[in-house]
Amino acid sequence: MINLSYDLHIHSCLSPCGDDEMTPANIAGMAAVLGLDVIALTDHNTCRNCGPAMAAAGEYGVLLIPGMELTTMEEVHAVCLFRTLEAALDFDSYVYKHLLKVPNQEKYFGHQYLYDAEDRIIGSEPNLLINATDIEFDAVWDLAKSYNGVMFPAHLDKSTTSLLSNLGFIPPESRFVTAEIKDMKNLHRLRAEHPYLNNCRIISDSDAHHLEHMREPELTLAVEEKSIDAIIDLLGTAP
Ligand SMILES: [Zn+2]
Ligand SMILES: [Zn+2]
Repeated sequence: MINLSYDLHIHSCLSPCGDDEMTPANIAGMAAVLGLDVIALTDHNTCRNCGPAMAAAGEYGVLLIPGMELTTMEEVHAVCLFRTLEAALDFDSYVYKHLLKVPNQEKYFGHQYLYDAEDRIIGSEPNLLINATDIEFDAVWDLAKSYNGVMFPAHLDKSTTSLLSNLGFIPPESRFVTAEIKDMKNLHRLRAEHPYLNNCRIISDSDAHHLEHMREPELTLAVEEKSIDAIIDLLGTAP
């Protein structure tokens, strides 16, 4: 087994709230400087900067998992990760059809820049990406699985846009086996209040929207090998 330092929740400049400096190449470079083994790019409701990010990360020897932070109908944030860029982009097309379309107002919400592998802006997404989709939280586990990926609820201990803030409980029929919290200090309390979490692997990520908020490698995942498959298999299996 090897222990890989990770940060599986990072936003690029394609997220309206993501800083313009969060280009795919800058994220990959910062991950290398910080010494992270594996990162995931998880923009709001889109995977479309994952291709250039995977290419840039590869140059630095950092493993980058293509992903998305999906906003459900209940405005719950759920991180979905995929084994290949193709699967991520197929999932992206599905989600885009289910996104409530409202034109982005860059002045208020920020730019939504699309990049190419040469770290050049090639366009911007016209519709606001932080809106809700019409996908129910209960459907996301199976949905991600149907694209051979995995889902975990994002920042459970956040006071907005989390499963616990918006639903107030963990639906008992849930099947996720990994959950993300912002601050590991909250873990004991959360597990006492929500016993479902006793059977989950708990991870913590930066949810960085700015380069300086990407995290030093502190936490690790134990896997057989440094590969996307190994990490997705782990996150999809009960601990
Ligand atoms: Zn979020
Ligand atoms: Zn996020």
